[in-house]
Amino acid sequence: MQDWVKTVPKAVLHDHLDGGLRVETLIELANEQGYQNLPSNNHNELKKWIQPKPDKSLAINLEAWDHTIGVMQDQDSIYRVTMEALEDLSNDGVVYAELRFAPLVHTFKGLSTAEIINSVVNGIKDGMEKFDVVAGVILCAMRQEQNSLEVVNLCIEHKDVVGFDLAGPEVGFSVLNHKEACALAVENNINVTLHADWEVPEGIKEVVLHSKAKRVGHGSQIINDISFENGSIRFKNDAAKYVFDNKIALEICPTSNVQCGAYSNVSEHSFGELYTAGFNVTINTDNRLMSDITMSEEVSNVVESFGLGEKDILSITKNTIDAGFVGQELKSKALEKLS
Ligand SMILES: [Zn+2]
Repeated sequence: MQDWVKTVPKAVLHDHLDGGLRVETLIELANEQGYQNLPSNNHNELKKWIQPKPDKSLAINLEAWDHTIGVMQDQDSIYRVTMEALEDLSNDGVVYAELRFAPLVHTFKGLSTAEIINSVVNGIKDGMEKFDVVAGVILCAMRQEQNSLEVVNLCIEHKDVVGFDLAGPEVGFSVLNHKEACALAVENNINVTLHADWEVPEGIKEVVLHSKAKRVGHGSQIINDISFENGSIRFKNDAAKYVFDNKIALEICPTSNVQCGAYSNVSEHSFGELYTAGFNVTINTDNRLMSDITMSEEVSNVVESFGLGEKDILSITKNTIDAGFVGQELKSKALEKLS
């Protein structure tokens, strides 16, 4: 990794709270709580079990979320995980971070949604101060569940929440099943960003045109909706043109995409072409624990793959913060770190 990558100010919009625990925290919380289900209490063994296998025989280990969510069922644990996320990101040169999580999966031991959201919000507030990073929290509903309206209402109730997202499996679980929830969010000025990964070709259209999302979670497959003729860009559909013209931020997660099989490696990723074409691409970690990735490593992979320099990353960081969902005053505070 080039030295400057670690220190250059970075910004992340797409980082799942329950996908970014430290391995040792997962073990400690499990021991404290008498949680018996971890496959191992040994740091290296557990890390090896969670993270992608070098031979790619198993991509993302979905079972790992049962355990991270399993130990995040009380306020102290949720607060601790939030604080540590901001500490780790800040130590890695991140000046602006949006963390996201699905509140309704933390109710299994009786926490109320208010207790859950307040634990994260308090962690964000304290972490911002302690680790000198600007941060915000997004609430996720799951595409395969029927409770997205409830999650939007939580976004409306909790003024410190900065946005709404739909996560979860996309094939067979269209965003359009959550029309009402997305409309309610937009009506109430809740910022919306929705996952639209590579498996559903019409995903971007559903997200930006039908659901009025301000950003797209992933979105790298938009490369299939454009072509280049004589050096200029041509759009194959309205959605791609809309994303380009309106500088809709694409929350690209290169490592996660590679691990899920969308690309064979980061240098094959559409990021480079989209960046050169002038799309508003941002660089994101998705799940730091499950993908065994840090923000610096993510940026470094992009830098090495596409020949980007410090100026490019600074410009991406600026665009990323501009696309952020926190208020302008806080965004300005993060932008100050770029000068
Ligand atoms: Zn995600």
